Amino acid sequence: VSLLTGEQPTPQWVIPRMHAAVNQALDEAGVPLARVAGIGIASPGPLDNRTGVIYSPPNLPEWESIPLRNLFANHFHVPTWVENDANAAAWGEYLFGAGRGCQNMVYLTVSTGIGGGMIIDGKIVEGTSGTAGELGHMTIDWRGKPCRCGNVGCLEFLSSGTAIARQAHEAIRAGQGNDLLTFAHTMHPHREPMKISRQEDGDQRDEHALSVEEQLPINAHTVALAAEAGIPVARTIITQAAQALGAGLVNIIHVFNPERIVLGGGVTQMGSLLVEPALQIVQERSMKRPREAVRVLLAELEPNAGLVGAGALMYRSNPP
Ligand SMILES: [Zn+2]
Repeated sequence: VSLLTGEQPTPQWVIPRMHAAVNQALDEAGVPLARVAGIGIASPGPLDNRTGVIYSPPNLPEWESIPLRNLFANHFHVPTWVENDANAAAWGEYLFGAGRGCQNMVYLTVSTGIGGGMIIDGKIVEGTSGTAGELGHMTIDWRGKPCRCGNVGCLEFLSSGTAIARQAHEAIRAGQGNDLLTFAHTMHPHREPMKISRQEDGDQRDEHALSVEEQLPINAHTVALAAEAGIPVARTIITQAAQALGAGLVNIIHVFNPERIVLGGGVTQMGSLLVEPALQIVQERSMKRPREAVRVLLAELEPNAGLVGAGALMYRSNPP
């Protein structure tokens, strides 16, 4: 059962729909509630997985101090677990995906943002206040530009899908994106071509340049396709994002000495274009012993790792 949150995703609107979705899923599977051992919920954070309370995720601003776990446990009268979505996805990959059979695994998801989760000695690392695993907000460029989190030069600011799209728009505004625009237009022939990217006299910012996104959707996927097609500016953008990712992987390898690093998220779907330059950095810069111990693998449960992990949260204390 899959439902959209709708335009007004308030708790009052969403939670009854979630309850109804659980009932619908049970009906469709022909499973009575009495046979359900537990409910697992993967949610955007910040949240406290011990109490199951959610604290105002950026995309769900009205969800301030919502006791999500109790709203399910008390409604269905079955044990309920709540975990942040990146940790749940890490847990899913660890038990049933690319992390099967190992003890120390780091999961990194690269999509619009970058998140992560660490499993050390078979346990999800939570940290003192439950916020461990913000791997997207490790500093890569310590003199870099501000990230939305308050830090500067974060991995997310350099390697996420949002970062790749932002760098494409910056290149276009700097007058270096004509090939990319032409390519994007062949993907969206029904759109008006960009009339401008820069005025001829160059000294005045063109008012249209601010609405590139509206005129022609250039996202990370477009840039990846353009890079595959050999467009130099797109290749440069993807390679730089990949190298920043590689620097992040080196940090992860040095800090955690993991057996596996599992890469998930839509941006990693571009495959070798992103992964090879990243692994090149790992090869050149990481210490020999932890490098020889680690395998970097693509996730296996995409896009359902979070769902699988949520369903398996009841195994947290006793993995199957
Ligand atoms: Zn950040």
